[in-house]
Amino acid sequence: MASIKRVLVTGGAGFLGSHLCERLLDRGHDVICLDNFFTSQKTNVAHLLDRPNFELIRHDITQPIWLEVDEIFNLACPASPGHYQYNPIKTTKTSVLGAMHVLGMARRCKAKVLQASTSEVYGDPEVHPQTESYRGSVNPIGPRACYDEGKRMAETLFMDYHRMNRVNIRIVRIFNTYGERMHPYDGRVVSNFIRQALTGQDITIFGEGEQTRSFCYRDDLVEGLLRMMDGPDDFVGPVNLGNPGEFTIRELANLVIELTGTKSKLVQRPLPADDPTRRRPDIALAKQRLHWEPKVPLREGLARTIAWFRSIDLSDYRPPTANY
Ligand code: NAD
Ligand code: UDP
Repeated sequence: MASIKRVLVTGGAGFLGSHLCERLLDRGHDVICLDNFFTSQKTNVAHLLDRPNFELIRHDITQPIWLEVDEIFNLACPASPGHYQYNPIKTTKTSVLGAMHVLGMARRCKAKVLQASTSEVYGDPEVHPQTESYRGSVNPIGPRACYDEGKRMAETLFMDYHRMNRVNIRIVRIFNTYGERMHPYDGRVVSNFIRQALTGQDITIFGEGEQTRSFCYRDDLVEGLLRMMDGPDDFVGPVNLGNPGEFTIRELANLVIELTGTKSKLVQRPLPADDPTRRRPDIALAKQRLHWEPKVPLREGLARTIAWFRSIDLSDYRPPTANY
């Protein structure tokens, strides 16, 4: 049997974090979920509270914390544009100070630490699909910079702690991921379109809807996180994790309309500043080093996500910010 580890998941009550906590608990590990509930709520992990190997800590990762752990998954950070632009200075602090705090902890207790980085480090990419060697095209002074540059700085800190202090790190660059427990008011395209379709509201296409994204189902992504953490110590990344299937936003809207059977109409809204034109991961590295690739096609993952959205009561969720 694999050894039982003490695993910290920062941002553990969030969309991806809550699924990751579940997988780790199922493996028998002791899981500490740390979250300040900025973009999530306790209901995401309420079903885990009775499990003896689960602990929940309300803490803001911009503040130091001492914990004794073997592994850290650093997921704490608002992830949707509406959320991370609500308080951009706080977003930068969360990425940068948060990285420093988990790296300090990892150094002190010789823990392995994984950083949830993002495809946003590529900005509005001139290289397509995006490989890990592409250095990106990020506007450092635009509205997305707090997130993009914060995550880039976190990658820098991870590499420097690795080179200077031999901290055992992993960096994954996550591309758009969706699924059950996305915050219904996070403003991301999948949650927006499904919520709008199920409540009969207009479906809001930003710009012409010809921009593309590649959507990965949450199970596939969490499997990738676990494989990277368990992988060889000489493979620190960064590695892209995402589904290479590429869709225009208009195609996504039409698929949501078909799968929900809604009568909602498509309407156009202005394209936000610096919105990347296209995005698709090159996952050759993950395939080669982690033997990982996504299995769940968009149509199937969306159907599961729609079923979950149908099952929840939207009035149980508060929009965390005015920007949704
Ligand atoms: P999410 O918003 O559901 O989860 C983030 C969690 O971090 C939330 O529970 C939030 O309350 C918590 N958090 C935010 N600031 C915090 C702070 N200062 N201290 C402690 N906790 C804090 O989003 P998600 O989609 O689950 O994203 C998880 C991670 O994956 C994030 O780091 C995000 O940048 C990264 N990521 C996600 C995607 C995606 O498509 N889902 C893509 C790229 C990267
Ligand atoms: N988008 C849209 N309508 C919405 C929400 C988003 O057309 O209601 C677009 C957005 O402009 C972007 C894409 O969908 O081009 C993905 O947006 P999201 O916020 O989900 O993620 P990101 O831009 O960070 O990839």
